Amino acid sequence: MPKKPTPIELLFLGSGNAFAPGRAYGSFLVDGRILFEATPTTLPFLREMGKPLEEIQFIFISHFHGDHFFGLPFIFLDHYFIVKREKPLMIIGPKGLKKLTHTLIDLAFPDTRKRYARNFPVEFLEVSPGKEYTLRGITFKALKMSHGKIPSLGFSLAYKHKRLAYCGDTGPCPALTELLHDANIAVIEMTSIDDHYPYHLNQKNILEIRRQLPSKTPLILTHLPDLNRRQTKALTQNPYGVLLPARDKQRYQFDL
Ligand SMILES: [Zn+2]
Repeated sequence: MPKKPTPIELLFLGSGNAFAPGRAYGSFLVDGRILFEATPTTLPFLREMGKPLEEIQFIFISHFHGDHFFGLPFIFLDHYFIVKREKPLMIIGPKGLKKLTHTLIDLAFPDTRKRYARNFPVEFLEVSPGKEYTLRGITFKALKMSHGKIPSLGFSLAYKHKRLAYCGDTGPCPALTELLHDANIAVIEMTSIDDHYPYHLNQKNILEIRRQLPSKTPLILTHLPDLNRRQTKALTQNPYGVLLPARDKQRYQFDL
């Protein structure tokens, strides 16, 4: 009997770049349990969308720019004082993750971290690019993206018989091509329409990526600038395949 498709839900808590261009900072939640990026706006959007923090088992952080991980102190605070979490949480990211998160929490809410340590079962996993990890029902690997001097990871997650790729922040590079080549669903950044930042992607880069991948593979754009109707149409009506510029609070469900 053919295998029944298992739906996978992606909920965008934010879809904007670091300039917050009429959008919250880019962050998305997979099936309510896997969070990609903990931005300064993630927590209020989780609340607004009725997604319980205690159901989140994994938080993936691509890199240490503020619009990707400065939301962690608020998430810790909420876990401790509001949720009183007992379920384990794993935070996954580049080398230095644990120390930087602690520094951030100490700056944001001094003297709270010792209390978290006693009650809140959080684990940090600082991943080595290229290595495959299997833990608590998910398998993933990280690849080193091209984002200037700051170490930045893209993640490829084997989940529900599908492969979900997320590139974090990056310019065009061979690792990005490798990350996307076997994806069934891909979430990629498009920081600007036509600026040429060397360590980000623009519309031209995106259309080239779209052209190279199978046309039916959904490609979702995040980390976006403000887009007018004409610009949105140019993306969604491209000749190469499915291209979906995410919006804040947008929910996608795929039955692949
Ligand atoms: Zn960045």
